[in-house]
Amino acid sequence: KPLDLTAHLERIVDDVKYEAEETGLEIRLSTTSRPVTVMADARRITQVFINLLTNAIRYTPEGGKISVVIQDKVVDRNAVYTCVSVIDTGIGIPAEELAHLFDRFYRVEKARSRHTGGTGLGLSIVHHFVRAHGGFIRVVSEPGQGTTFTVYLPINNDL
Ligand code: ATP
Ligand code: MG
Repeated sequence: KPLDLTAHLERIVDDVKYEAEETGLEIRLSTTSRPVTVMADARRITQVFINLLTNAIRYTPEGGKISVVIQDKVVDRNAVYTCVSVIDTGIGIPAEELAHLFDRFYRVEKARSRHTGGTGLGLSIVHHFVRAHGGFIRVVSEPGQGTTFTVYLPINNDL
């Protein structure tokens, strides 16, 4: 079903805003055009971004910033996508850990993650749902600087 991604992400960001601000984080959403429509299951898209935003909140120290950026029509390898980036200024992920990030139960440096109490399932679910929508996900991270997860969702031209 067609989903108004902009409106949907506005609601999701609104839902986590309190939690973010309570931990001293600034969170904002920006988009170049609106509405941005994708063919996607609303509940799964919600789960994808709640997971990514929960991570961004959990792994970003007080005073940090989280931005959600929607980009309509990004061309990658001759296909057109709508992209959503979740950008944080958090602790980052070491390069050697990036390859395992989407594995089930995988958590970076068990010691550092232990007290934040997750199961390590979040990103494997994100990965699974994004692929089920015909998309993919990329991550760029700099330890101590922050992390950007970008979700690529294919544009269906028959909308
Ligand atoms: P769960 O999501 O099941 O509660 P989790 O957050 O530990 O647990 P994932 O969401 O799969 O599991 O993330 C895997 C690991 O990747 C995390 O334990 C964390 O070390 C690292 N990670 C994920 N997102 C970020 C981020 N935005 N910044 C830094 N590290 C991250
Ligand atoms: Mg998580």
